[in-house]
Amino acid sequence: MSGLYIHIPFCKKRCLYCDFFSTTRLERQDAYVSALVQEIKARQDEAGEPIRTIYIGGGTPSTLSLEAMTRINHVLNRDQVAEYTVEVNPGDVTKEYLQGLRALGVNRLSMGVQSFQDDLLTLIGRRHNAQQAIDAVHMAQEAGLDNISIDLIYALPTQTMDQWKADIETALTLGIRHISCYGLMYEPGTALYNELMNERIKAIDEDTENAMYDYLCERLQQAGFVHYEVSNFALPGYASQHNGSYWNNTPYVGVGAGAHSYIRNVRSWNPDDLDAYIRGIEDGTLIREQETLTETDRYNEHIMLGLRTCQGVAREDIDGDIDDLLEAGLLQIKNNRVIATQQGIHLLNRIIEDLMRD
Ligand code: SF4
Repeated sequence: MSGLYIHIPFCKKRCLYCDFFSTTRLERQDAYVSALVQEIKARQDEAGEPIRTIYIGGGTPSTLSLEAMTRINHVLNRDQVAEYTVEVNPGDVTKEYLQGLRALGVNRLSMGVQSFQDDLLTLIGRRHNAQQAIDAVHMAQEAGLDNISIDLIYALPTQTMDQWKADIETALTLGIRHISCYGLMYEPGTALYNELMNERIKAIDEDTENAMYDYLCERLQQAGFVHYEVSNFALPGYASQHNGSYWNNTPYVGVGAGAHSYIRNVRSWNPDDLDAYIRGIEDGTLIREQETLTETDRYNEHIMLGLRTCQGVAREDIDGDIDDLLEAGLLQIKNNRVIATQQGIHLLNRIIEDLMRD
């Protein structure tokens, strides 16, 4: 089985915290979709295994019209697809758009909600408000798209614990089945990073950030969610199958500008330059860079990705001594698998670094 990732690098406006590759040049969408359709036709079966999951991500895929989505959908090999996800911005969607996606066979939405607090949404430069997010979830559910994942961000400047708790409660009340949560990162070069450097905003302290994360884990588990990866929580049966392929060595093909692929130990990626991508596909000169993972790369990746999941890593797969980490309560062993504890998750990057080979 394999996964297909389709990158839509367009956003109507750049959010202030974002350092992903995306562009606001929406006038290039037509040419981009034409190139994408060509690349999908040529490469979607490259993994040599049936496509099980499709994920259209961005950027903001919902900046594409339904007609453009239909053009893409038309060339997809969907015979054996079990999970077909599209990322949407709550400010973009209408009932007709969501019904249209459903009619195309989409069966999962990933919604970039980030917060249900209007002041925080404005602070980070999102273009939707809380009510639009709530309405978007209801519209999707009414359109038959009830397998919805939302993204939430914590540790936002000025965010209080009460606001964070309220966000989680709103998500639960809405009947959301999958939640991805990220602590805010101040990425150099972003507008929010500059605000921080110029002391116009203040970062949340580490203890509060950790307390927000711990509350999240506790509350969602209490509500029946499985904490299946450090940042991901799902009701039973709703874990993202597509993201699972990144963590369990399933091959995936990535199409579109900046998209990465991983097939038989080779990682390759398209240029993250819109014009170079479109031109390269149009005239057949696209250069996809690639690297073959060494045994050490593969080991390090296995440790890094495995320890982020609730399955952990088989004890025998880990080189060296982990007694100190077990004694310190940062790792635990269950059924011969090494799993990070709640305390360990806070220090996970350091633990992983310690266990990686040079
Ligand atoms: S919508 Fe997403 S990809 Fe676009 S700027 Fe905002 S965070 Fe970045």
